Amino acid sequence: PDEITVGELASRLKQTASNVIKKLMGLGVMASVSEVVDYDTAALVAEEFGAKVEHEVHVTIEERLFEDVADDPGVLEERPPVVVVMGHVDHGKTSILDAIRKTRVTAGEAGGITQAIGAYQVEAGGKAITFLDTPGHEAFTSMRARGADLTDIAVLVVAADDGIMPQTIESINHAKAAGTTIIVAINKMDKPQANPEQVKEQLTKYELVPEEWGGDTICVPVSALTGQGIPDLLENINLLAEVKELRANPNRRAKGAVVEARLDKGQGPVATILVQNGTLKKGDCIIAGTAVGRVRVMRNDKGEPIETAGPSTPVEITGLTEVPAAGDLFEAVADERLARELADQRAAKQKEEQWGSYQKVTLDNLFSQI
Ligand code: GDP
Ligand code: MG
Repeated sequence: PDEITVGELASRLKQTASNVIKKLMGLGVMASVSEVVDYDTAALVAEEFGAKVEHEVHVTIEERLFEDVADDPGVLEERPPVVVVMGHVDHGKTSILDAIRKTRVTAGEAGGITQAIGAYQVEAGGKAITFLDTPGHEAFTSMRARGADLTDIAVLVVAADDGIMPQTIESINHAKAAGTTIIVAINKMDKPQANPEQVKEQLTKYELVPEEWGGDTICVPVSALTGQGIPDLLENINLLAEVKELRANPNRRAKGAVVEARLDKGQGPVATILVQNGTLKKGDCIIAGTAVGRVRVMRNDKGEPIETAGPSTPVEITGLTEVPAAGDLFEAVADERLARELADQRAAKQKEEQWGSYQKVTLDNLFSQI
């Protein structure tokens, strides 16, 4: 759109190509029929023939496909926080996620501790909290590398009998880089060797000063083994969420990110996705990376079929053409045909990039052999 071939320009001006070429020569531009001239040159030539070139604005396929309007603050509603659990190996990340999941039974939820997908919601004080069920930083880092910023709050698990260890520091750095608020769960409080005061002291070296010491880092002593302190941890997560004023607009087309995905023999591609804004409805067409499709079956974190999913809701869906990657952003769209076109475009680009890096590798190998 910012350039045009001489032939095309001639036909639009209803002139012979040689007439146009002559005019171009008059302007000091040498171009054959098949060569292109830029917009400004084309406009000058057109003027000479008494015509005007209207500058076509190039609209990308993304611009046509996606609903890119910002939400009016007035339509925003409170949404649950999205929480990830991080920390050093063996400090109790998996155990804490299990202990939190068990609170669903006492909350009287149907289905109890059955959990079908890689993220789940619990209720504390009448409010939902969404947990990403991938402990450690895999979820976090791989998703952030793909541009998905899912988490609002990071629970940093530190074993009270072990203190801050290398992966604790790594976790702190990841969370800080992402601008995610850290809440510390001082775990294994049931152990006789538990020394929470020492953990707090170590934390201050990483600019995490406990509230009780005048800082703004919430530290909650817990035991994943006995369940002690878990309700307190959830309550504090909710307090933190309130301070952060997390909001979304449930009344627009859904967008969010893929948490995990797999190929199921019977169902085809199955993806756990997290809706970040808007509401996803069964039957909606979505695009996630190079995958497209209509949401055929949508299930909640208990494996129950549902029709709609609002902000911060994790759901499992089927209906995509291929398995998307964790961290791929998804968006519901109105035009399925255009979505498929964009997916093809992305796939082609990916292939090109892969080929490029392949060539680079072989060249590098070649040079290293010389
Ligand atoms: P992760 O590597 O951080 O996921 O740690 P795990 O949850 O797998 O826990 C590592 C070990 O610590 C396991 O043997 C757990 O049973 C144990 N553990 C976890 N939480 C507690 C706790 O609160 N108290 C005690 N005594 N042991 C715990
Ligand atoms: Mg684990």
